Amino acid sequence: MKIHHLNCVEIHSPGYGRAIGHCLLLETAKKLILIDAGIGLMDTQNPLARIGKQLIDIVGYKFNEQWTAIKRIEKLGLNPANVTDCIISHLDNDHIGGLADFPNAKVHLGIEEYENFNNGNPRYLSQPLEHNPMIKTYSKSSQTWFDFEARKVDVGSEIEIYLIPLFGHTLGHCGVALKHQSQWLFYIGDAYYLRGELTDTNHPVNELATMRADDNELRIATLNKIRHFIAKHPEVEVFGYHDINEFPTSMIDK
Ligand SMILES: [Zn+2]
Repeated sequence: MKIHHLNCVEIHSPGYGRAIGHCLLLETAKKLILIDAGIGLMDTQNPLARIGKQLIDIVGYKFNEQWTAIKRIEKLGLNPANVTDCIISHLDNDHIGGLADFPNAKVHLGIEEYENFNNGNPRYLSQPLEHNPMIKTYSKSSQTWFDFEARKVDVGSEIEIYLIPLFGHTLGHCGVALKHQSQWLFYIGDAYYLRGELTDTNHPVNELATMRADDNELRIATLNKIRHFIAKHPEVEVFGYHDINEFPTSMIDK
């Protein structure tokens, strides 16, 4: 299996500077698996209808077809039609705008997240799921990965991959743990926006993270858990979605 890092979001935030959307593409002999889907083609073609002016301005989205997962996959010389599965941390639009570009892919996510979406939480946009993808949800599990609850994602036996509940940012927000050449990767999604939040509890972006959290106490507890985990397990590669400093430098668009 090969892992590709794809940046599929460009945010120039009025208050916080540049942020990205660090998606992962797993390439196996048989298929492609996308972890979070970024901003999609339709978002770039019709941002006002898909996302809305207010959200675009507040967040500071920039749009370019070439930054979408489907275009980046093509650019790697791979066939986007081979994306069979998308594993999703949560249903905020900047993580699932690209799902419609892979209409036949099965979408995997935590059940609490899907319930949060279906219960009408106003943070979510309905457009990214309007193509009615096949959705597979994962409920509470007795399995663990290190000290975390772990829900094994059903994408075939060749890949060991888990959804890891990291609730708080949203009520069903999950990270993804996967094993690659005997090394564990732990993608923590939006559990932090910037890695600096781990060391600086008064980090400026903390205000935004607090405001955006469905359950802020839970978010802080999750952040503490990740902080302790990193201290205890330096052998595991940990990274989130939005921090440009965690993205391979050579692959950043100038
Ligand atoms: Zn996000």
